[in-house]
Amino acid sequence: MSFHVRRKDREITDPRELKCILKSTKYVTVAMCMGNEPYLVSLSHGYDETQNCLYFHCAGEGKKLVYLKSNNKVWGQAVLDYGVTDNCDYAYSSVHFSGTICMIDDLSEKKNAIEVMVKQLTPNPEVKLSGIKPEKLASTAIGRININYMTGKKHQTPKNSSNCLQKIARKVN
Ligand SMILES: Cc1cc2nc3c(=O)[nH]c(=O)nc-3n(C[C@H](O)[C@H](O)[C@H](O)COP(=O)(O)OP(=O)(O)OC[C@H]3O[C@@H](n4cnc5c(N)ncnc54)[C@H](O)[C@@H]3O)c2cc1C
Repeated sequence: MSFHVRRKDREITDPRELKCILKSTKYVTVAMCMGNEPYLVSLSHGYDETQNCLYFHCAGEGKKLVYLKSNNKVWGQAVLDYGVTDNCDYAYSSVHFSGTICMIDDLSEKKNAIEVMVKQLTPNPEVKLSGIKPEKLASTAIGRININYMTGKKHQTPKNSSNCLQKIARKVN
């Protein structure tokens, strides 16, 4: 069965805008399924636009890894939440994505992943990155979500939204 965003007036179709939301948010919420049992977790992430993937880090064991080993297909969401407007509407921009998760072992990819994450999540990335030792990185569990489908929806994105959304809005209008 195939679904689409029913409210065409709220649909985000520009891929730059979808990517910008994944780049501007601090975490995604990811749903998974094992057998007939659903589960979800929120994960702080970094979006790698060149590979259209999300990186996250986590403990090396736990329920989500058991689920992902059984079924690596996921459905996720990233939200820019602008809260209640003066008109009592709720303002947001959000992306849904589907994809597959794999854990990464290669140290050079782990280095790229941590750079992508730290640059997106912290205000002083260079300071943080300089303190990360290769042996610590080698023992850190890092996963990649390979995105294969995205949709977007927004409602009343305010003028002071993230920089990349403002740039896109200026070029379009
Ligand atoms: C904003 C945000 C960012 C986060 N970023 C990360 C991240 O980058 N990496 C990461 O690994 N985790 C992150 N977390 C925590 C994450 O959402 C999960 O709690 C965590 O990954 C535990 O996963 P697990 O399946 O191994 O849990 P387990 O320890 O195996 O837990 C199993 C059981 O504990 C309960 N449980 C687990 N997590 C939660 C929870 N958050 N709240 C209530 N009950 C819970 C559930 O009942 C579950 O059945 C973040 C959470 C938030 C809110």
